Amino acid sequence: MTDKYGVVGNPIAHSLSPKIHTEFAKLTQQDLIYDKYLVELEEFEPAILKFQQQGIKGLNITAPFKERAYAICNELSIRAQYAKAVNTLKFSMNGIISGDNTDGFGLIKDVTINHRFSLTDKSILLIGAGGAARSLIKSLVDANPKQLVITNRTFDKAIKLVAEFKQKLNHASIVAKPFSELITAYDCIINATSAGLTDDQLELPRSLVHSNACCYEMVYGKQTSFLNWASQQNAKLILDGFGMLVEQAAESFFIWRGVRPSTKSLYILKNYDRTR
Ligand code: NAP
Repeated sequence: MTDKYGVVGNPIAHSLSPKIHTEFAKLTQQDLIYDKYLVELEEFEPAILKFQQQGIKGLNITAPFKERAYAICNELSIRAQYAKAVNTLKFSMNGIISGDNTDGFGLIKDVTINHRFSLTDKSILLIGAGGAARSLIKSLVDANPKQLVITNRTFDKAIKLVAEFKQKLNHASIVAKPFSELITAYDCIINATSAGLTDDQLELPRSLVHSNACCYEMVYGKQTSFLNWASQQNAKLILDGFGMLVEQAAESFFIWRGVRPSTKSLYILKNYDRTR
C-alpha cells in the first residue's frame, strides 16, 4: 500500500514541500504520496490525532504549529529538545509520535556542504530570537564557531535565549548584543527574522560584513531588504532560505524512509543558482 505523508500549516497554499517530497520519492523509487493540509488554529491537536488514526506515516509541521507539535510528542530528538519545536512528526505502529527538528541541520548542510563555507572558528551573527533562530543555535554551536552573537529587535528575548543556551551547551562564546552595539564585522550573518516576509527594513550598520562573509536570509522566494543590504556590502556568498528548505526536507525524508535523497535536481528544477 502507498504510504502517506504531508505538511500541516496555516497558511499552507504556498508550501513547496509536496513538490520537493514527490521529487525525492521519484529519485529514491519510494512508493509514497505527500499532500498539504490546512488546519484551523484551534484544531491542531485533534487534527494530528486524526491524521495518525487515518494511517498517515509522518508529517512536516510548519508555522504556526511547530511549538504545539513539540508539545504532543511522546519522544523527542535531541535537536527538537533544544529547539523546543518540531517540524517532523513520525507515527509508529505502536502509536508513538516521535518529533524531530531538521531546520538547523538544513541550514548547516546548505552553508557548509552545498556552498563549502566552513563555520569553524568563524564569527557568526544571528539576527532574530523567534522559533527559527532557536532552532538553529544547537547546530550553529556544533559547527564550532569562534563566537555566536545573537541580536533581536526585542532585546530581552535575545538575552533570555543566550542565557538558556549558554547554560545548556556550556559554551562561553554565545553572546547577546543589541542592534546599537553591533560594530565589529562578522564572517557569517544569518537573518532569522520574519522582516523579509513583511517587506520591513532591518536597520543594519555597514560595518558588519567581512570581505569573505556569507549572508544568509532564511526567507526564500523574494528579494528581501536583507538580501539587498548584503549585496550592497559586497558579501562574498549571499544565500536565501531555499537551500535550507530543501535540505531540511531531505532530512525529514531520511527520518521517515531511511534513505537520503540527492538534493541536486531540486535546485535545477527551481532554477536556483547554485554551485557545487
Ligand atoms: P517568529 O517566531 O514569529 O519570530 C520572528 C522574529 O523576527 C523575531 O525575532 C522578531 O523580533 C523578528 N522580527 C519580525 N519583524 C521584524 C522587524 N521588522 N525588524 C526586526 N525584527 C523583526 O518567526 P520564526 O518562526 O522565527 O520565523 C522567522 C523566519 O524564518 C520566517 O520568515 C520564516 O519564513 C523563516 N523560516 C525559514 C525556513 C526555511 O526552511 N527556509 C524554516 C523556518 C523558518 P521580535 O522578537 O522583536 O518581535
